[in-house]
Amino acid sequence: MSDAMLYVVATPIGNLGDITHRAIEVLHSVALIAAEDTRHSGRLMAQFNIKTPMISVHDHNERQRVSTITKKLSEGESVALISDAGTPLISDPGFILVRAVREAGFKVVPIPGCSAVITALSAAGMPSNNFIFEGFLPAKRVGRKQQLLNIAEDTRTVIFYESTHRIIDSLTDMVEVLGADRYVVIARELTKTFETIHGDKLSALLEWVKNDHNQQKGEFVVLVSGAEPKKNTGFSSETLQILDILSAELPLKQACSIAAKITGEKKNALYQEALARKDGS
Ligand code: SAM
Repeated sequence: MSDAMLYVVATPIGNLGDITHRAIEVLHSVALIAAEDTRHSGRLMAQFNIKTPMISVHDHNERQRVSTITKKLSEGESVALISDAGTPLISDPGFILVRAVREAGFKVVPIPGCSAVITALSAAGMPSNNFIFEGFLPAKRVGRKQQLLNIAEDTRTVIFYESTHRIIDSLTDMVEVLGADRYVVIARELTKTFETIHGDKLSALLEWVKNDHNQQKGEFVVLVSGAEPKKNTGFSSETLQILDILSAELPLKQACSIAAKITGEKKNALYQEALARKDGS
């Protein structure tokens, strides 16, 4: 195997002070930097006096760029992949390139650093042992609501990326699908001058954003607290369905007695369950 490597290099998400020593070293040392937007990354390069040549690799040319980059690697020259901000491949291009480079037998080396999702999670004060990262919600309302429905019952913290154009629409749909009382944190403009991390129940949060134009500007991470775990009743879903149908039509004791005969479960246990379901507990 050649010594040439593809480095996947994280860059800051706002504050240039967040670049790592290793990232700067690698960007200086490689033969070529593959950047999502070369003009945008030019500013970062100027700041750190990095003169390495750059080519663009974005959603529309990533497949074509694979051969340019693997050729460079086969000539023994290393390449760095960067995106406009944060860690490449995290809601950013690069997956096709990284897979192709690995399949071609070259080493891919991550140079870790910022990512908005982890930066937000580290300061939101929400359960973080388990979480789901959903990237951007769909732009259209129907798709967005469907995606929200898909995660509505999940008990893990769910994290989205959102842009200034859609933050109000997304929060509005969240109120509708997840309910006004779901606790949500929005982390805006992380590491930048107007960094704001604010949490509240969804309806209050939406009002807060609507009433302050400044809170609608910039880049957002939205962290949704997980749904309350459903109590494990120990009954099968079929048993619970039978119990629900009968208790809707009959006095509770009679419903439980019939349900016990159908399912073979104990009448008393079903009665306790039916009472709890009636109370909504
Ligand atoms: N690769 C990046 C990363 O590792 O976080 C994400 C790129 S994605 C195209 C851009 C989105 O990330 C923004 O729309 C926003 O949702 C989120 N984001 C990036 N920088 C951010 C920041 N400084 N504050 C809040 N969200 C940010």
